[in-house]
Parts: sequence; C-alpha cells; structure tokens
Amino acid sequence: MTTKKKLIAGNWKMNGSLAANEALVKALQQGLAAAPASCDIALCAPAPYFAQLQSLLAGSGAMALGAQDISAHPQGAFTGEHSAAMLKDFGVRYAIVGHSERRQYHGETDDAVAAKTAAALANGITPIVCVGETLAEREAGRTEEVVKRQLAAVIHVNGHCISEIVVAYEPVWAIGTGKTATPEQAQAVHAVLRAQLHHAASEHAAGICILYGGSMNAANAAQLLAQPDIDGGLIGGASLKAPDFLQIISAAA
Ligand code: PEP
Repeated sequence: MTTKKKLIAGNWKMNGSLAANEALVKALQQGLAAAPASCDIALCAPAPYFAQLQSLLAGSGAMALGAQDISAHPQGAFTGEHSAAMLKDFGVRYAIVGHSERRQYHGETDDAVAAKTAAALANGITPIVCVGETLAEREAGRTEEVVKRQLAAVIHVNGHCISEIVVAYEPVWAIGTGKTATPEQAQAVHAVLRAQLHHAASEHAAGICILYGGSMNAANAAQLLAQPDIDGGLIGGASLKAPDFLQIISAAA
C-alpha cells in the first residue's frame, strides 16, 4: 500500500473534433472547479488537437496533456510519426507507449516499445507503458509470463530510472469490450508487476504508478482503485463522457 497520488489518464483514441473537445474539456473544468481532484489527471488526445488542447488546458493546471504514441526517432524520414520534441512544443507531459492497439495493428514489438520509452524519457515526457495479455494468453495460463516480458523490455532503458515510468496493466480482452477484470484479477497482476519492479529497483518500486485499464467506468472504478497496487486508471470509452470521467476522478480520491 502506498500513499502516492493516483493518476487518472483518459485515452481518447481516434475520437474527437474541435467542437467536441472544447465541450468535453469545459465540462471537465467545470466539474473540477466544483470538486477539485486529489489525483493527477491526463488527457491523451489525438495529435492534430494538441494546439487546441494546449490552449484549452492553459492556466487551469488541473489536467495535463498526453499523447497516444511517440516516435522512437528524433527527426527525419519517418512519415506520419511525431517526435518527442514536437510533443514538447505543445506542452505534452505524458505519452502512452505500447498500447495493445499499437502492438496489434501496427506490429509494435517489445523492442520498439522500449525505444519509444527511451525517447520519451530522454525528453522529459513520462511514458505510460502498457502491458497486458490477450484472452488466449490468459486462458493458456500465460498472463504472468507475458506481462513480465513486456515490463522487462522497458525496465532498464538507457540509464533512466524506472521511477520515471508509469506502467498500465491493460488486459487486451478487457479493452473496449465492456469486460472488466475483477478487482481481484487486476490486483493479482498488479502485485506481480510491483514485485518485478521491486526486484529491479527496490527503492523505487512502491512509488511507481501502476494503472489499470480495460473498461474501467463510473460504476466499477471505486472497487478497482481501492486495490492496494492499483494506483490509477487508463480510461478509454468512459473518458469521452464528462460525467463518467469526473466520477472516476472522484473515485481516485
Ligand atoms: C484503453 O484504450 O486504454 C482502454 C482501457 O479502453 P476502454 O476503457 O474503452 O476499455
């Protein structure tokens, strides 16, 4: 059990528009003005909206801007990618790295995820490194082996301290499916990850945020966030609805 601040990060995925983003951010700001959060909050938005969000979030300080991906390369012939320096230009503080949708649809390997993690750390951006097993892997009893392998890939990145990383346990079978891991299932995997962090860097392990992600919503957040090794949430669908996201934020108090 730790006393660090929890982190609630919304992953908007490929959703939003100038009008919808403005309405969502303003509704969140209104809600947070009425009931200030005691956790850290990040909004991981699509890159084309960074300028809009930088301006919407300016001054309020309650919510930080996050990216959904980051290039491993500093610049050059990498069509479609966004470098860490570009993200920094827009005040991006967090970058999701190795989301299962990137691993699945874009073939991102553990090595690629490690390289992206290194690029984020080298530029002062906090990587939110996603790990998680597929349904087939869970049913084959391979959950622990898979998440440990994925975490091991980023644990010793370029001399950076593991304490600069946020880990997100996202069972692939729970993402966007409405099937949430039970608090006990999630806690069991979080404990495995915490033990691995402890083995790698015992002095930092307790302070590292391990988020849960996978159909977390207003109804199930409190129970998940009450688990001793669940330090916050990475929220997809429910982060697009202000009342739901605000309820999750208040559950993280
Ligand atoms: C995610 O995309 O990281 C996620 C957890 O999505 P959802 O909450 O919709 O399952």
